[in-house]
Amino acid sequence: MKPIHPNGLHETVADIVRELGDKVNVRTATLDQPEQGLPDEILNQTDVLIWWGHCAHDKVEDGLVSKIQERVLKGMGLIVLHSGHYSKIFRRMMGTSCDLRWRDDTYERVFCISPNHPIAKGIPEHFDLGIEECYGERFDIPQPDEVIFEGWFDIGEVFRSGCVWNRGYGKVFYFQPGHETNNAFQNQYIRQIIKNAVEWIAPAVYRDSMGSPHINPTLEELRK
Ligand code: ZN
Repeated sequence: MKPIHPNGLHETVADIVRELGDKVNVRTATLDQPEQGLPDEILNQTDVLIWWGHCAHDKVEDGLVSKIQERVLKGMGLIVLHSGHYSKIFRRMMGTSCDLRWRDDTYERVFCISPNHPIAKGIPEHFDLGIEECYGERFDIPQPDEVIFEGWFDIGEVFRSGCVWNRGYGKVFYFQPGHETNNAFQNQYIRQIIKNAVEWIAPAVYRDSMGSPHINPTLEELRK
């Protein structure tokens, strides 16, 4: 059987973002790398951080979580996928338990309920994802600024599966699909949503160390 993530799940996700072409410079970080893959010089150059995690949430250093939080508050976009709902950084950004009702694999249909949001560009009213791990309500998150997607599961659960929040100068997007043994990241609409999210969540403005807002130099470069 062909492995679902032949180069690791982080590379599966990175390949989706790489489809944005010259607009992006993609690198991956894993816990086993020095400084858990996110030394200051890399974090401080990152416009968008995508976070997927499952069993090792408690291995992430609290000091790194604080640095990521600070970076988001200054403007960096944070995209949290699937079981990342329990990551230290997501719970830190939300300030709640981020607990949810867990059920095993079942059949999911994703509804796009905010079709005008930039993350929903090109996404139909609903699409069938197929077999996916079931997350249900109540999802213990603060009220999102907008719920863009809702998941319906055929064992009788619903879930706010795509939500956005503003945090300081930065934005956070949580997106539920992406269990490691299923095929969500091969689904064309899931891939489109992740690419849309990267483009939307990249900061136009950063807050510098003195607290002053300034235009993101990366985006300025792109406009030339
Ligand atoms: Zn999972």
